Amino acid sequence: MTTTADASALREASLRVTRPRLAVLAAVREHPHADTDQVIGLVRAELGTVSHQAVYDVLRALSDAGLVRRIQPAGATARYEVRVGDNHHHVVCRSCGAIADVDCAVGHAPCLTASDSHGFVVDEAEVVYWGTCPTCTTPHPPQ
Ligand SMILES: [Zn+2]
Ligand SMILES: [Zn+2]
Repeated sequence: MTTTADASALREASLRVTRPRLAVLAAVREHPHADTDQVIGLVRAELGTVSHQAVYDVLRALSDAGLVRRIQPAGATARYEVRVGDNHHHVVCRSCGAIADVDCAVGHAPCLTASDSHGFVVDEAEVVYWGTCPTCTTPHPPQ
């Protein structure tokens, strides 16, 4: 659908346009916050056999190029998304690991001012909201 846009984004990032790279970008766009295993499954459904290592390599190249954002809440597996550059945050369910985007109130990093920066030049504040998602808050009906 947006293959052309993805191809030019890859070229602008000086990355060769390859089918695995296009497939990974499409998978992450359609499934925001997918983890590596999900991405591998989606890419395989699209392309057939692709090795784990190939998908890892593509995810790393895309993250390094800033086309994909890698997020890793403490104790959780890494997730990927194509929503980059807006400094949005995430709310994570402690119980099931569900994750959702929370717009940054300020819109750019760092959106929190350190009470004492100790002389550091602070360029980012990593904010993760932890809680319980609606599914996990709702009591399960008795079986
Ligand atoms: Zn949950
Ligand atoms: Zn996100």
